[in-house]
Amino acid sequence: MIDKKIFDEVRKTIGKQKVFSEKEYLLTYSYDATALEFQPDLVVFPESEEDIENILKIAYRHKIPVTPRGAGVGYTGGSIPLKGGIVMVFTRMNRILAIDTENFLAVVEPGVVTQHLQEEVEKKGLFYPPDPASLKTSTIGGNVAENAGGLRCYKYGVTGNYVLALDAFLINGEKFKAGSPVIKDVAGYNLKSLLVGSEGTLAVISKITLRLIPLPQHRVSFRVDFNSLQKGAEFINYAIRSNINPSAVEFMDRSSISAVYQYLGLPLDDQLKATVIIELDGNRMDVEERKNKFVQIVQDYDTLCFQAAETSEEQEKLWDIRRNISPALTKLNPEKINEDIVVPTAKIPATVEYINQLAQEYDLVITLFGHFGDGNIHTNLMLNPEKQGEMERAEIALDKIFRHVVAVNGTISGEHGIGITKKPFMKYQFSELEMDLFKRLKQSFDPENLLNPGKILNFE
Ligand SMILES: Cc1cc2nc3c(=O)[nH]c(=O)nc-3n(C[C@H](O)[C@H](O)[C@H](O)COP(=O)(O)OP(=O)(O)OC[C@H]3O[C@@H](n4cnc5c(N)ncnc54)[C@H](O)[C@@H]3O)c2cc1C
Repeated sequence: MIDKKIFDEVRKTIGKQKVFSEKEYLLTYSYDATALEFQPDLVVFPESEEDIENILKIAYRHKIPVTPRGAGVGYTGGSIPLKGGIVMVFTRMNRILAIDTENFLAVVEPGVVTQHLQEEVEKKGLFYPPDPASLKTSTIGGNVAENAGGLRCYKYGVTGNYVLALDAFLINGEKFKAGSPVIKDVAGYNLKSLLVGSEGTLAVISKITLRLIPLPQHRVSFRVDFNSLQKGAEFINYAIRSNINPSAVEFMDRSSISAVYQYLGLPLDDQLKATVIIELDGNRMDVEERKNKFVQIVQDYDTLCFQAAETSEEQEKLWDIRRNISPALTKLNPEKINEDIVVPTAKIPATVEYINQLAQEYDLVITLFGHFGDGNIHTNLMLNPEKQGEMERAEIALDKIFRHVVAVNGTISGEHGIGITKKPFMKYQFSELEMDLFKRLKQSFDPENLLNPGKILNFE
């Protein structure tokens, strides 16, 4: 609990219109996109770096935990205040400070919404590629802290590939800089990369300098349908090997296709068992050349149906199918465990088969879709808690999935981070020494474990 004296001190220091302890605020900032809920004692909305510094100094003096928060659409409980204390919400620090067309970079506050930045940058003929499916709501600060990925990672990489420099605060309110606004920088330890994906546990990020690239002039997308799950899964490596350099390689299994077709009111062919969506982008001539190559390789493969989407309207329609998976799945069963495992691409077919076997063995609905081009398999266990023993069976299956992923040299999280929900599985991927190194890193930034405590690692 934060006593009234501290509450008054924070209000007096940064202004009462930025500090709240009313029940509706504590409730609103107690959850994210998981089903977890932990209430803070205080919610603060910094509007400047000075506010951040002042809040942190007070919190540090009184040993109050602080949890940074963007839009709160994380999938692993990262922005939930597990130990109470202060939630520092960045939605009011949402200014794009510069779009520098000479040096190809943008400087933003952490609360800028991802799509807003993309739109502003594109108006100037530039491109910020990271595109998590949550981009209409997620913030750049949240994307950096989670090292968010998205649809275009196969070609363009993840958020971290675009972070040039960060301004940040230690838990005691001291400010520091990490990285430089240039593409190459090998001076000193790479603090910037350490902060990217640190889930708000090492430092509070107050300013972000991002790399921009020229906007591709032309795009074309394809839908390739298969009458077998395996054929679809095997097509991923086949397509990549053909050197068409796709910007997106997405996969959907039968259960995700059927959920989304039903949701959008589209007719569904009984034979359809898997769909791969591929996007090519670049300058027009280059895209045409790669398109012809792709059409050729598809003709040589055993497909059910193949369709090109060339106009922006056709492409929108096609990508709408992919984008609507998440809302469509909510209709399948009331609860969902949503994982974002990654395996080497050659292991995709075997992994898909293994998970399907588990679904049958444990009588579960498990849908598979996602960014298969980079091996990222969104694995959704769709659960009905009223079905006897379903939650217990799901836990056993999930444990087996994580063990399998690590055994084939994959990772337990490609995008969503560890937060609270994936902590129990860290031991499968990391040795005791590696976990200890993580702890020592955390302790060197935050010796008293006050910044977003209880995430990634356990200290108790
Ligand atoms: C429908 C849906 C689709 C999604 N699709 C994708 C996807 O395609 N790819 C993907 O990668 N993720 C995806 N996500 C997950 C999520 O959107 C991302 O993790 C996103 O980056 C979260 O952004 P946010 O602003 O909501 O951050 P929050 O959830 O508020 O916070 C996330 C983490 O960042 C930390 N943080 C936030 N701001 C700061 C700061 N200024 N300084 C330090 N730490 C900070 C928080 O403490 C927390 O640990 C999806 C989520 C949903 C609900």
